[in-house]
Amino acid sequence: MQAEIIAVGTEILLGQITNTNSTHIAQGLAELGIDSYYQTVVGDNPARLAAVIEVAAQRNDLVILSGGLGPTKDDLTKQTLAKYLNVPLVEDVAAMQVITDRFNQTQQVMTENNRLQALYPAGATPLTNHNGLAVGAFYQSPDSADFLLLPGPPREMTMMFDTEAKPKLQAAYGEQAQIYSRVLRFFGIGESKLVTELQHLINDQAAVTIAPYAKINEVTLRLSAQADTQTAAKALLDTTEAKIRDLVGDYLYGYGDDNTLVKVVIDEMIAQKLSITAAESLTAGLFQSTIGSVPGVSAIFPGGFVTYANAAKHQLVNVPQATIDADGVVSAATAKAMAQGAQQQLQTDTALSFTGVAGPDALEGQPAGTVWIGLAYRDQPVKAQLYHFAGDRQRIRERSVMAGLDLLRR
Ligand code: ATP
Ligand code: MG
Repeated sequence: MQAEIIAVGTEILLGQITNTNSTHIAQGLAELGIDSYYQTVVGDNPARLAAVIEVAAQRNDLVILSGGLGPTKDDLTKQTLAKYLNVPLVEDVAAMQVITDRFNQTQQVMTENNRLQALYPAGATPLTNHNGLAVGAFYQSPDSADFLLLPGPPREMTMMFDTEAKPKLQAAYGEQAQIYSRVLRFFGIGESKLVTELQHLINDQAAVTIAPYAKINEVTLRLSAQADTQTAAKALLDTTEAKIRDLVGDYLYGYGDDNTLVKVVIDEMIAQKLSITAAESLTAGLFQSTIGSVPGVSAIFPGGFVTYANAAKHQLVNVPQATIDADGVVSAATAKAMAQGAQQQLQTDTALSFTGVAGPDALEGQPAGTVWIGLAYRDQPVKAQLYHFAGDRQRIRERSVMAGLDLLRR
């Protein structure tokens, strides 16, 4: 079973709109276990549309068209398909009634081209448009490919595809193997290193495919398995995940598309009722702003400190001037004193501190990217960790925040 999606619309070709319809339909096909090897975009031109319909029908069992069902002159998808199938267009009586009622209600004169919206190729099953006027259609053909006609406006298309078309596709093409996915999230390892470590697993993609995606400071792997049941798919995904864990499990911190490092770490701290504060120099509040993005963080985060100047480090979190004089600002001693001072000020379970060189210029003879992060945890001895980050000023500050979060999860 193989399907091709054809998005019809000159505005897509011109780059004026993004082809979200094909994305939505493709995801739906994957859920139904219907393979899709081609996607096409064609303008509102009947000759070229007829040509791509011809090609798509030859290489697929099902062709899905979106766009060009409306009442205007450039909307010709239905007419072009009917011509290809060599069938007339017939009227969906219920849809025509809806259109007539609409025009009566708004007291507008209905022009002839509006009637077009209630027409569909003879022999097809019309599909109700719950968010608009143009009907869709599902045409099953004994000797050529089948066709699904959908409107262009995404609100109309998604509703019709999900509620009207999908059940009919499922019924028509029976139980197909479905695709199940799992997203693994990594921090502290770059995409290229991850791919190198997992090369043999990625090359040997038989039952489970592994696709890496690099995000900002994080990498995710999407594992996909094709199987008849969810249980069978889970077993396949579990086996592959175990192999991945053996190799790079230390960097794996979570699952899912939306569970970013900050969300995973802060949710865990909320669950454990571990309160946190921070004293930030080079990040100037970026860490606190980042954890502020997680709903519910107020339960564990009373507030914190931005301690840029030496005087502020002293006034706000009691860093002794002697420490700064002796060791410098970019030092383990200052990082520890900042974390400890912040923890004492607000009586929290944990406190992080950030002090370093955001750049572009060096500081105290240390190059941009040199960062110390301090961690105070209950009454354990305060720790400090040294990092050397690459990148521009903003990148160094972002990496510092991520490294701080990573320290918290360990
Ligand atoms: P209408 O009745 O509005 O004319 P239609 O079925 O004729 O609908 P089109 O005229 O092709 O569809 O497109 C209508 C609008 O829907 C476009 O201007 C665009 O905003 C949106 N649209 C069309 N195709 C797509 C697509 N593939 N992805 C996202 N949006 C789309
Ligand atoms: Mg249109």
